[in-house]
Amino acid sequence: MPMNYNAWFQCINGCPGQFSLLEVIYRCPSCGDLLEVRHDIDALKTRAAAAWIKLFDDRCRQNVYPYGSGVWAKKEWVVPFIDNENIVSTFEGNTNLFWANRYGKQLDVEDLWVKQCGNSHTGSFKDLGMTVLVSVVKQMMADGQPIDAVACASTGDTSAALAAYGAAAGIPTVVFLPRNKVSPAQLVQPLANGALVLSLDTDFDGCMAAVQEITKHKHIYLANSMNSLRIEGQKTVAIEIVQQFEWEVPDWVVLPGGNLGNVSALGNGFLMMRELGLISKLPRICVAQAENANPFYRAYLKNFEHFEPVTARETLASAIQIGNPVSIRKAIATLQRFDGVVEQASELELIEETARADRTGMFNCPHTGVGLAALRKLVKRKVIRSHERIVVISTANGLKFTDQKIAYHSGTLAGIHPSQQNRPVELSADTRQITDAISHHVERVRLLDQ
Ligand SMILES: *Cc1c(COP(=O)(O)O)cnc(C)c1O
Ligand SMILES: [Zn+2]
Repeated sequence: MPMNYNAWFQCINGCPGQFSLLEVIYRCPSCGDLLEVRHDIDALKTRAAAAWIKLFDDRCRQNVYPYGSGVWAKKEWVVPFIDNENIVSTFEGNTNLFWANRYGKQLDVEDLWVKQCGNSHTGSFKDLGMTVLVSVVKQMMADGQPIDAVACASTGDTSAALAAYGAAAGIPTVVFLPRNKVSPAQLVQPLANGALVLSLDTDFDGCMAAVQEITKHKHIYLANSMNSLRIEGQKTVAIEIVQQFEWEVPDWVVLPGGNLGNVSALGNGFLMMRELGLISKLPRICVAQAENANPFYRAYLKNFEHFEPVTARETLASAIQIGNPVSIRKAIATLQRFDGVVEQASELELIEETARADRTGMFNCPHTGVGLAALRKLVKRKVIRSHERIVVISTANGLKFTDQKIAYHSGTLAGIHPSQQNRPVELSADTRQITDAISHHVERVRLLDQ
């Protein structure tokens, strides 16, 4: 295989200059905006589309390190030059597509699939991004660059992923969390993986400011998505979806958005496949936001002529509680290229939708619930038609949110009257009582599909 493929950083606004992916750089030195990872497409074009498809299919679910990973199966398209021995992988990716047949019927759509990105090593799609970032750090360290640690601000999935990949590689990690604003469940992953957990007397934005200050010293490397290396691996989810449909492109992809890195990564995956001839059409994209943190939705209503950050209010969808998304410019460009739409969901809509979907066999995180609630609205408005093939990206594992689900089913969530409430039925061991309870339950399940 020719190994002359290459990738580098370049300014998203087209300022001159290319920077090595092994350089510690997060922003364009000319304009200060974000960088993006660019690939030598001409070199990649020397291999025919059919040959790429065969290569990717051959590697799928193999155990040859690191190609059994859903990300590193596409290594030439991600970070082609990295040494395999420096790749830090948990064989992330290759997550299942759940055919949401029963749930789809309730929504009046025929061809609905949920991409279960939460069925991953640390329970969220952030693994797809973090494997790439931590691997590049390991390569830099192997090359003799003086990096002491990798750091991020987060209240949940980013810190969990960073801590796990850092621990797997033996690289020290530092996680900045706002004190008293994270649950034990959100704390325990980085603690268990041995990260330095800094619990700061501030909010998330304060943590983000602190980590940016600390990472000005180049020996502490920044793992937030302001660093576009963090999202380069996430584009493989687009390739995986198409591959799982025998290289056919779905009509719609719906995903929740907060900092808006993932939507641009997803778009890049589709664009790269089209440029290299693996596909000939693009899906439409819907970004779903919580109404309590909806700056992208507001900008969409104004045709993206104007963007204004908001102060994010508290939402059950805590991973997307972001008022000033760092990747806003990239996300607008993606939505424009993919004929995209933005929808929002209220707290009641997102938690009810999560519960309704769970009743059809899923076990979703609240962010996935935001995506599903947006889908329901778009189907109702006939923006999405009932025969179209739809993929909803489920971003995290519902097991990270059991506290919330317990509160829902016990009816203790403030302001929420749970329509799907399901509580343990406490009985004596009396057969008649048990039989009655079963009859009642059978009737209830029957009614759900009507
Ligand atoms: C990070 C995250 C998101 C949002 O992704 P962005 O790239 O910030 O838009 C959504 N859901 C979950 C579970 C996440 O961890
Ligand atoms: Zn620039």
